Amino acid sequence: MVTSKPHAALIASPGMGHLIPMVELGKRLLTHHSFHVTIFVVTTDSAITTSHILQQTSNLNIVLVPPIDVSHKLPPNPPLAARILLTMLDSIPFVHSSILSTKLPPPSALIVDMFGFAAFPMARDLGMLIYVYFATSAWFSAVTVYVPAMDKKMIESHAENHEPLVIPGCEAVWFDDTLEPFLSPIGEMYQGYLTAAKEIVTADGILMNTWQDLEPAATKAVREDGILGRFTKAEVYSVGPLVRTVEKKPEAAVLSWLDGQPAESVVYVSFGSGGTMSEVQMREVALGLELSQQRFVWVVRPPCEGDASGSFFEVSNGGDVALNYLPEGFVKRTEAVGVVVPMWAPQAEILGHPATGGFVTHCGWNSVLESVLNGVPMVAWPLYAEQKMNAFMLSEELGVAVRVAEEGGVVRREQVAELVRRVMVDEEGFGMRKKVKELKVSGEKALSKVGSSHHWLCQMSKDCEAHVQGSEAKVSS
Ligand code: UDP
Repeated sequence: MVTSKPHAALIASPGMGHLIPMVELGKRLLTHHSFHVTIFVVTTDSAITTSHILQQTSNLNIVLVPPIDVSHKLPPNPPLAARILLTMLDSIPFVHSSILSTKLPPPSALIVDMFGFAAFPMARDLGMLIYVYFATSAWFSAVTVYVPAMDKKMIESHAENHEPLVIPGCEAVWFDDTLEPFLSPIGEMYQGYLTAAKEIVTADGILMNTWQDLEPAATKAVREDGILGRFTKAEVYSVGPLVRTVEKKPEAAVLSWLDGQPAESVVYVSFGSGGTMSEVQMREVALGLELSQQRFVWVVRPPCEGDASGSFFEVSNGGDVALNYLPEGFVKRTEAVGVVVPMWAPQAEILGHPATGGFVTHCGWNSVLESVLNGVPMVAWPLYAEQKMNAFMLSEELGVAVRVAEEGGVVRREQVAELVRRVMVDEEGFGMRKKVKELKVSGEKALSKVGSSHHWLCQMSKDCEAHVQGSEAKVSS
């Protein structure tokens, strides 16, 4: 079939925080940039919530990769990244054969997140352009691309003496906010991160889910000051802020409850798709919310001792069990002012509701963007991955969040109450609300027809069309 309309094959790695931005990117490519789009969804077992997200994606060609279980290939309690990488690796044979048998024109572009580099050899064999989609900040993207070129001594003194990591043109990464791989430069996590980074820099293009006004220094460093120019040949496209768009408002009791609350009076508390807490910590959150005397919506999961990402692969399991871990009488005492939602809530709709006025968040990047695009100030409570860097950016650089003080132990109820009140009712909260609303306007502009997100996706589309035409010319000559 001869056509110059490009076909992009997107592979979403396991986890809702990876699936959601990939689906949103797919939707934009399909509806605004005339791509054919196929999304391969790699799953472990979070079937219920995954299908809920996918039900809302009309017109996309979604291919569910049969669930993959790699647990027998890993040691007990492996790092999250190791499990995702292995699952992605095992998905490639299925993806490959699906691509070969597609009824659409052969895909000319592969788009993967940073866990998808196992698909690069397949893409090269099939003559596809390779794009890595960092569904996160320019700052984190810059750190990752810079890793293979980082001075070994700097990494060692970061781990040993807690010196900052100096990243050209960007904020330094302070030890307190560092990424887990940098805690031990001889450890497996660091080696895995380095391997991924070395592959990522060989891609044809890098997409970042951010925009200039949110990250002026980092986007400039990545694009203009040549971090990527020097350390990778990839083109860089700032395609953000791509956030979940809701085609049809779901029926949910929590949304009806919000309808009855005053404007900006409710604090939403949620730790993403994977975040879990210890039982003691859950109790302190509950009592802290009560102490704050603010209206709230809180998404609760059964506690998980010592694993902050405990429900990453199992968001749909657990049902109402989480409610058993709340302090005695809590639900009854707070029923006039609060709603507890077990496991999973319609977050995009909650943050977009006029009654929502604050967000206690683990600072996953999707949550950050959803909050900003709805003009909601935050309490930053980072748990894992690059979330501490995100928390630094929100509280120190942008001034749209207050941050939980990291004392290594349990965050006590008094602190929870104080932070919630600072955002919801104190003078400081008004300032944060004003700033986050300015960012909201700038994010909406970036998404408009004259904005940077549209511009960079048009540019990517042109690059793909040129690639298709080049391939077609080769075939016909
Ligand atoms: N999410 C949701 N309901 C929940 C928890 C999470 O809809 O109860 C969505 C949230 O809106 C976001 C994504 O799941 O789009 C989580 O991504 P994020 O990057 O914030 O965190 P992660 O889950 O990857 O740690």
